Amino acid sequence: MSAKQYAQHLLNFIDESPSPWHAVASIESAIQAFQFVRLDETVKWQLQAGGRYYVVRDDSSIVLFVLGRSAPSESGFKIVGAHTDSPGFRIRPNAATASNGIARLGVEIYGGPILATFTDRDLSLAGRVSHTDDQGRLLHKSVRIDQSLLRLPNLAIHLNRGVNEDGLKLHKQNELFLLFAQLTADQLPPQPYFVALLAQLAGIESEQLLSWDLAVYDTQKGAFWGANQEFYANSQIDNLASCHAGLQALLDEDVLNSVEGTLVCAFFDHEEIGSRSHVGAAGSFLTDVLQRVSIATSSDREAMSRASANSFLISADMAHAYHPNFASAYEADHSVIVNQGPAIKFNANRRYSSESVSTAHFIRWCKEADIPYQRYSHRSDLPCGSTIGPIASAKLGIRSVDVGCPMWAMHSIRESAGVQDHEYMIKVLKRFFSD
Ligand SMILES: [Zn+2]
Repeated sequence: MSAKQYAQHLLNFIDESPSPWHAVASIESAIQAFQFVRLDETVKWQLQAGGRYYVVRDDSSIVLFVLGRSAPSESGFKIVGAHTDSPGFRIRPNAATASNGIARLGVEIYGGPILATFTDRDLSLAGRVSHTDDQGRLLHKSVRIDQSLLRLPNLAIHLNRGVNEDGLKLHKQNELFLLFAQLTADQLPPQPYFVALLAQLAGIESEQLLSWDLAVYDTQKGAFWGANQEFYANSQIDNLASCHAGLQALLDEDVLNSVEGTLVCAFFDHEEIGSRSHVGAAGSFLTDVLQRVSIATSSDREAMSRASANSFLISADMAHAYHPNFASAYEADHSVIVNQGPAIKFNANRRYSSESVSTAHFIRWCKEADIPYQRYSHRSDLPCGSTIGPIASAKLGIRSVDVGCPMWAMHSIRESAGVQDHEYMIKVLKRFFSD
């Protein structure tokens, strides 16, 4: 595939994945043709050397692994970690209110989105609902409403004269309600109306609908832009681009067929809210999976410790690309430029997990993959973001490096990045897996 084709493949993947629950379902469907076996956490596992497996926890985190010919205790785990969630809005339980017949949905802010970017977009809902069937059994299904359903219209400039000087500020409690319907008096109150609409769109009866996890997503599809179409834009590039790159590297034919060590892709929900959940990187999910793999492949009680000591984690998450309009926002000697290769991220206070040894390994893989790389360090007078890298690395006792493709407008609902970087990242991750 060319760089453009990889990027197009990524845009399709994001368009199919409007929520973390959908991202995991998209990954499951992408591996269908590759003989991966789904493992159930509630039953005993039987694993074969060379076998391909995956585990899903609570529909929004997934660990895939290809068991090496030599046991993890001998050759360790090679892990690419990323996250399936993106910042935005989540629908409250008692969501619907109305004012002068205009029905609105109340939202909570999930993580740290750029709120102003959610205005005037063609928004809709995606997530999962829990419901009963005709026999009263409890079922869960994913839902995605394709049509544009919701909107956060701006206040006209005539009513907000300072907006261009002061910036668009939205009060988090009062001004983020999403408009969704104009109701007549007999359609009120709005909550039963919303529940009926959601149930209808989910293909169930209102009385059967019990609960939901619903993200707000942008219905606009991904696109290329730039004079040479060298950039791409979509929602959730942070961090579905890294999930996609890891998955493409793992599914490479040469990688899959030459497995000496055990290869792992671990994609977690809840990174944007701190990773502390039973499916997040600070939870037990990856540890549980790796421990079970170690136990299944060795009777040695030291197997897991030996495997960890011999393992490596690449934490792949997007990086802040240099934006020429805001040059002073960057540490002047560590600007990273789109389409000039993955950034290795450094932070002395371990907001990123990279250190000199893990960095040297990553640079070697870049050189062997014949791709450029860059080094990123945040300004000292701005708080630095973080990733799953330090969290998963600490929890597992595994050496780690933090890397990511440069992008613009991180946490906007419409982010953008460089076409060429995506291919570079896939190439270096392939090299890592086949090392
Ligand atoms: Zn991220």
